[in-house]
Amino acid sequence: MDRALLDELARRCRGSLLRDEPLWRHTSWQVGGPAAALLRPANHVDLVKAVRLLDAAGCPWLVLGGGSNLLVRDGGFPGVVLDLHAFNAVRIGADGLVEAEAGARLNSLIKQLVTAGLGGLEELAGIPGTVGGALVMNAGAGSQEFGRAVDEVEILSGETFDWRPAAALAFGYRHSELNPGEIVTAVRLRLANDDPELLQATYAERMNHRRQAHAVGGPSAGSVFKNPPGKRAWELIAGCGWQGRGIGGARASERHANFIINTGGAMAADIESLIEAIRADVLRQTGVLLETEVKIVGVPAAARPASEGA
Ligand SMILES: Cc1cc2nc3c(=O)[nH]c(=O)nc-3n(C[C@H](O)[C@H](O)[C@H](O)COP(=O)(O)OP(=O)(O)OC[C@H]3O[C@@H](n4cnc5c(N)ncnc54)[C@H](O)[C@@H]3O)c2cc1C
Repeated sequence: MDRALLDELARRCRGSLLRDEPLWRHTSWQVGGPAAALLRPANHVDLVKAVRLLDAAGCPWLVLGGGSNLLVRDGGFPGVVLDLHAFNAVRIGADGLVEAEAGARLNSLIKQLVTAGLGGLEELAGIPGTVGGALVMNAGAGSQEFGRAVDEVEILSGETFDWRPAAALAFGYRHSELNPGEIVTAVRLRLANDDPELLQATYAERMNHRRQAHAVGGPSAGSVFKNPPGKRAWELIAGCGWQGRGIGGARASERHANFIINTGGAMAADIESLIEAIRADVLRQTGVLLETEVKIVGVPAAARPASEGA
């Protein structure tokens, strides 16, 4: 990694720049090697400057939300991770128009909506991560999905920000359409007025359900695989005998077979090997090819140049 480029980034972009930042600190699985740098741009201008500099230098970059759906390999990410930590404003207008920046915590937004008597996202209570991550993943729980509440999305594409209608994102199951290199910076939501007490009751019930159903016994990234059409991934995985089985420090949860937990000291390679072993075995036994919901990024440990450290 070109140190001069990181120096220039630090000089030109306001915010904070952490060099050789271990990414296990930023992922819910608590695994992953370092990024050459993690940049938290101070605002929109600094974000554009950063992307321009990195693109001009041909340096890879990646947007990090809450890291709750991300497996970073042990060799880390050979480029710059952009963290929209400073993009965290939430505005709820008297007209019910809601605008939330991408780095705001999803659950904090949901709590504010419930208090304001705005319904549509309360069943997502307790999903970790950011508003940007929820939009990109079209996070969902119960009968609700994030994308259904979206009116418009602010996207940085190249060096231009523009607001795109929700239809342009073509939300699907744990999916939204963004072009490579695009960054979500804010969303506008369209929500229905509802009784705050009822919303609060749903919120509490969902949190309670999550506490019980998701008490899987270790750090995870939620469901690893998407549910195939008409089937449940956890049932297929459990039916193939993977519940409680593992590789190295990674294990398919006894409680929820589609959750892989870090039992302590897992390497990303253990988790990835387990994902591939489960995928291959479920295909062999059932004929169903599971697709990962989690995003896998970075390079294996051995692929990291020695000059850049472990
Ligand atoms: C215990 C647990 C329970 C979970 N339960 C659920 C659940 O019930 N339902 C559900 O849908 N998910 C669930 N998840 C998965 C995860 O929380 C969601 O997918 C969440 O929306 C991811 O948000 P994030 O900010 O952590 O995204 P990250 O993991 O940081 O990123 C996910 C992807 O989005 C990209 N990205 C993030 N922000 C931006 C941005 N601003 N612009 C462009 N790209 C961006 C990243 O590059 C990456 O490719 C769970 C996870 C855990 C750990």
